[in-house]
Formats: sequence, structure tokens, C-alpha cells
Amino acid sequence: MSGTPTLPRAKGPNGAGEQAAPRGSRTPTESVNPYLNALEQLDIAAQHLELDPGSHEVLKWPERELTVHFPVKMDGGRIRVFTGYRVQHSAARGPCKGGIRYSPQTNLDEIRALAMWMTWKCAIADIPFGGAKGGVVCDPHNLSSGELERLTRRYTSEISIILGPNYDIPAPDMGTNAQTMAWIMDTYSMGIGHTVPAVVTGKPVAIGGSEGRYDATGRGIVFVTREAAREIERDLKGLRVAVQGFGNVGGVAARIFHEMGASVVAVSDALGGLYNPAGLDIPALRECANRDGTLTTHTGGDRITPKELLEADCDVLVPAAVENQITAENAGRIRAAIVVEGANGPTTPLADKILRDRGVFLVPDVIANAGGVVVSYFEWVQDLQFFFWTEKEVNDKMEQIMVRSYNAVREMAGRHDVDMRLAAYLIGVKRVADARALRGIFP
Ligand code: NAD
Repeated sequence: MSGTPTLPRAKGPNGAGEQAAPRGSRTPTESVNPYLNALEQLDIAAQHLELDPGSHEVLKWPERELTVHFPVKMDGGRIRVFTGYRVQHSAARGPCKGGIRYSPQTNLDEIRALAMWMTWKCAIADIPFGGAKGGVVCDPHNLSSGELERLTRRYTSEISIILGPNYDIPAPDMGTNAQTMAWIMDTYSMGIGHTVPAVVTGKPVAIGGSEGRYDATGRGIVFVTREAAREIERDLKGLRVAVQGFGNVGGVAARIFHEMGASVVAVSDALGGLYNPAGLDIPALRECANRDGTLTTHTGGDRITPKELLEADCDVLVPAAVENQITAENAGRIRAAIVVEGANGPTTPLADKILRDRGVFLVPDVIANAGGVVVSYFEWVQDLQFFFWTEKEVNDKMEQIMVRSYNAVREMAGRHDVDMRLAAYLIGVKRVADARALRGIFP
């Protein structure tokens, strides 16, 4: 044994092993493994930054990974064992921060990628956090509320050895919500012996959550879309928007687009979507989704699939569901002039290149959906100070940060003649590498 670890091999689309090790060539590739895609994005930025090989190597690796297998008593009395993860990619710039995902598809490499993207996202927004992510392999739609609570409490207890307001602060992601965060806060607090609101963000306001947090990711997406629309000399009014995903991110973004005068022409959830070139009735669709658990029972437009939504005739496409939606297969058929990534990792590196070559302006996830973590930062600050702000204060401060980081990235893209993702990485990766260099290597 040499003692030097190697980066993981993951199964590729054909089941063949794909090596996530450094690549010699800069030709973008395509993988269904988000961690390989995240590593490739880092490689490209490291090459542009002429990062020294040691710093580059450090940034490829999560600092800490915890995998837990834990039992949960189901409603019928049966015991099921679930698998969960918490990955801390980097604490170079501050405590680790990142959501928790409940999904049947999640796995360690997905959580590693999401943790790495959180590191860059926090650095680009210039908030004092590193990146982390967590997940449990489960389908929350097939669990009762009692089962979800027991699962959440046991998972929290298992990972609590690496959580804490100064260490690692979770938040909601796919399949989790404010109630999940309340159970996490309570479980952690019971273990410590006193209430610790700052251990988690995205909580209900009644127990230390922040005003504006629920809407924050969607609202931030609308702010950056407004900035990006200048590229096509448009403002939000009348802009035709298609949103894939109708949850925490997509559902809220669609609502705020609608409120601000954009025309939301297409939306979808996992089961299907609707298209109406005259604009959809978003309040009615939200009512429908709340009532039926899906928007597909609504009749206000033509039925489309979530994949067809991506190719809808629109000005702005907001993929706000899952990874790997825009690939080499469909990137040539995207009709939007602007893509704003609401989800994390919805575009593969190869699709990125195809969109760029076709002149599609893409605002990457690490800027576009940062509103959530920015307001999570505000929530953490408020919890630590036990002093709370109004929703207007929260929204105004978030808008300032979103516009500041968008403009910094836009300026970097222009100066170096690179796309917005690479420009964002040049800022984010450099900030993290600089912090690591200033701190030095212990011991
Ligand atoms: P959510 O669970 O609230 O909603 C997800 C939506 O996507 C639902 O409408 C679901 O039906 C749909 N969906 C699920 N699988 C799909 C598939 N295979 N094809 C098409 N649609 C599918 O999740 P969310 O919190 O809105 O997160 C969505 C994305 O945004 C994720 O990539 C997440 O990491 C990212 N994100 C979330 C936050 C946040 O604050 N919640 C912040 C930043 C980024």
C-alpha cells in the first residue's frame, strides 16, 4: 500500500469504469456521474488559473466523508436499514454548509459533487462558508410522516459527530423541507442539552428560521435572470420563461417570475408538464400541485414531458429539478437564448460546450441558485446573534449579494473571454485556493 489514495472509479453510462483522475486533454466529456463532471469543471479552472499541482490535488478531495447505515422502525413494526451520507468538501473559508437530500437515486459520488459545488458557490458569493452536502437513500413520498421523523432523527444522530454551528450546518435540498430541518435542530439540541438554532438553516421562522428563506433560492434565480436578460436587451416584463421542476426552487421561481411580469410558458414536475405559449396561470398551478401533489392534473396548457420542456420555445430556460438534464443529446435543440441553472449540475460539460458554441448564454448553478445559501448565511448570523431581520431586509441584502457576484462574474467572463461557468470558477476556486495557501498545510 502506497498510502496515497486514488480518486474513485465510477460506473459510466455503459457500466465501464470511468477514472476521475486528472485529465491530460481539455476536450469536455460527458458522464452521468456528477462527481466526474465536477472534477472536470475544477480541472478546467485549475488549468486556466495555473494552479500549482499540490493545491489542485487538495481541492479534488472532500476533506471528510461519513457513510452511515442505520435502522428505522417502520409503521408496521418492521425494521428497515437506510444508508446516509455527509460529505464536507472544504472548510478552508469557514464552517461547511450544504443541504440534505432525500432521494432513491442519491449516492456518495452525487453527494461529493454537490459538496464541491457548495464550496465554489459560497466562495463566489463571498460568504464565509466552506462546502458540504448530505443525503439519505430513500423515497420520502413513500414514507409516512412518523417514518420520516424517525429516519431524520436517527440520521441526524448518526452524523451529529461532525455537525455543529461552527463545523457543519445543513439546510434543505431535494426531498427535505422546513419540517425536516426542525427535526434536525431538535435532535441535535437534545444531544447537546440545550437549544442550538444555528446548527441548521431553512427552519420554520417560529424556531429561529429566517424570513425570506423559503423563497430565497427561487427569488435569487429571478434576480440573476433579470441581470442576464440584459444580454438580449430585455427586461423581465414579457420574458418567456420555461421552468423544469416545480418544488422548492422551480415552483417558487415560477411564482416570482409570474408576479414580476414575466410570462411562464412551460412548467413541469417529475410526472410531466404543461406548455402554453400565451403564459400559464401559475397561482392556479401551485394550488393544483398543493392539492394533488402534481401539476399534471391541471388543464391550462398542452401536455409535455419534463424532457420536452427543455426544448420548449422560450427566451429563458430554468432547469430546476435534477442533474444531467441538458446533455450532448439535446443541447443542440435548446431554443432558449438564456439558460439559468436553478438545479445543481443540470448541464454536462459537453453540453456546456455545445450551448456555448451555439451562442446560448448560460448562468451556472454556482451563481444562479446561490440565493438559498446566501439567506441561509443570514439565518445563521441571526441565530448566533438572537436578533432577527424583516423580510425586506433579508431580500434587499440577498439581492445586493446576488447582483454583486453576478456582475463580478460577468466582468471576469468579458475580461478573459470565457463563459460564465469558467469565470465563476476562476473567482471561486481562486478564493478557496488562496485561503488554503494562507492557512498552510497542517502540521
Ligand atoms: P424539490 O424536491 O422541492 O423539487 C424538485 C422538483 O423536481 C419537483 O417538482 C420534482 O417533481 C421534480 N423532479 C424530480 N425528479 C425529476 C426528474 N427526474 N425529472 C424532472 N423533474 C423532476 O427540490 P428543490 O429543493 O426544488 O431542488 C431542486 C434542485 O435545486 C436540486 O438540484 C437542488 O440541489 C437545487 N437547489 C436547491 C436549493 C434549495 O434551497 N432547496 C438551493 C440550491 C439548489
